Amino acid sequence: MSIAVYPGTFDPITYGHIDIITRTVKLFDKVVIGVLNNSAKTPLFSVEERVNILKKATNGIPNVEVVSFEGLAVEFARQNNASVIVRGLRLISDFEYELQMAQTNRKLAPDVDTTFLYTSLQYSFLSSTIVKEVASFGGDISEFVPDYVAEAVVKKLKERR
Ligand code: ADP
Repeated sequence: MSIAVYPGTFDPITYGHIDIITRTVKLFDKVVIGVLNNSAKTPLFSVEERVNILKKATNGIPNVEVVSFEGLAVEFARQNNASVIVRGLRLISDFEYELQMAQTNRKLAPDVDTTFLYTSLQYSFLSSTIVKEVASFGGDISEFVPDYVAEAVVKKLKERR
């Protein structure tokens, strides 16, 4: 069985992530989405909230599992018997960091490979950071994320103020 992991922060999930997920499931028998619990970052949503949002967003997509993880992506892949890490590539600016990570991961775990899916053109500008920034200035984010995510972002930002 071919298993891939798709790790990320997903703070919050966007249509760009959902696009990568729906395309990845066609390539593997099972996709495990790993929501990174990274103490170095201060996300808008807790890891539990991000996992719940992702579960809702992927409800109905077959062969997808959503879990949280800490630490190295290659370890997360091994724990899930995955031989592939999937990452999405948007702009040329993503490429340098992603290549560096992929090569580092290959040194750490030669048995785990990284594969990249290029973003669909309509999402090439989209990032979780942009979504939060637009929402923080009162902008409409309904074209970037599902409605329940947009509502959760607005609510969170209000609580933060
Ligand atoms: P990270 O903090 O690990 O970069 P993100 O949640 O920002 O986590 O992204 C997870 C993965 O999804 C990364 O591989 C990222 O490049 C990809 N991604 C994010 N936004 C998009 C998008 N709009 N289109 C395609 N891939 C995307």
